[in-house]
Amino acid sequence: MKSPREHLIEWLRDAHAMEEQAKSLLNTQIDRLENYPEMLGRLQTHLDETEHQRAMIEECLHRLGTDTSTTKDLATKFMANMQGLGHMMSSDEVLKNAIASYTFEQFEQICYHSLIAAAETANEPEVARVARDILTQEEAMADWIWQSVPGLTRKFLEREAAGEPAKV
Ligand code: MG
Ligand code: FE
Repeated sequence: MKSPREHLIEWLRDAHAMEEQAKSLLNTQIDRLENYPEMLGRLQTHLDETEHQRAMIEECLHRLGTDTSTTKDLATKFMANMQGLGHMMSSDEVLKNAIASYTFEQFEQICYHSLIAAAETANEPEVARVARDILTQEEAMADWIWQSVPGLTRKFLEREAAGEPAKV
């Protein structure tokens, strides 16, 4: 049986791997985008936030007397790369990515929602505070994607109809 603290450490490692995955997903999209500058700008902002999140999780692990799990980080990074490759096959890549990004942000939110409860139970209020700060950023990113998808979809369709490059 594991203590709340041991579980907390395990879940912080999961969160660290998740943020590594997020960085891969964002980097792939940023490298490929050509015709959607608003999306590009928001992705770059969230990439900066994500790197900061990753560093804060690492700090939490150090505070708990341990570190990240490289194996887990590498495995999730690999999966993220495969995911990015899948969307490159689609002629509506920008929309496929926006939809997948939204679900990824939702996934991050529920992970931090759970992590906050775990940190509180393990009497680690500083970890709970960090998780709350990160959760706020994931919520803001998901909201932004939600608000932007209709306009993005219209722009994609207009570019297609005008015979302009629309894929990314
Ligand atoms: Mg994140
Ligand atoms: Fe995120």
